[in-house]
Amino acid sequence: MLRIIKFLSSFSLMGLIRYLRIQVMGKELLVTGSCRCCGNCCREINLEGVRGWLRSEKDFHKVVENYPEYERFQILGKDQQGYLQFSCSWLGDAGLCRDHANRLSLCKNFPDKNLYFCGGTVPSGCGYRINEVRPFSRYLADEVKGQRKM
Ligand code: SF4
Ligand code: SF4
Repeated sequence: MLRIIKFLSSFSLMGLIRYLRIQVMGKELLVTGSCRCCGNCCREINLEGVRGWLRSEKDFHKVVENYPEYERFQILGKDQQGYLQFSCSWLGDAGLCRDHANRLSLCKNFPDKNLYFCGGTVPSGCGYRINEVRPFSRYLADEVKGQRKM
């Protein structure tokens, strides 16, 4: 039961709708593109805690207690879904990370597909796209099925 609650808490309502749509349609997420070094993903950030995406300042402080490296994030306010939005104090004037080599794994992994299931997407100007696509294995299975019928 706890696992189910934890699983569901990693979605927003919009994210859950997206997740179910992908399951029903037999699709998967594909991230395409490349980084343009605009720095926008360091200006409007959603962060995930133990109980899902952070909504309260209190939960954020708990995260910082356990992971002091998160102190670099500053609360900007809330987004339209009620999640806290942060900016990062490590962002330099030129839009580049001041310590790129030691950035967090969440920065290295951006854009993580979970972002889509939190109801979000990449920031404007980002060179990446998160797309719902039909997996290659499905095209292959259709092709094999078609050849068997011949
Ligand atoms: S640590 Fe660097 S890459 Fe990560 S959010 Fe901050 S400025 Fe951006
Ligand atoms: S928003 Fe996208 S393009 Fe801009 S720095 Fe972040 S990953 Fe790179």
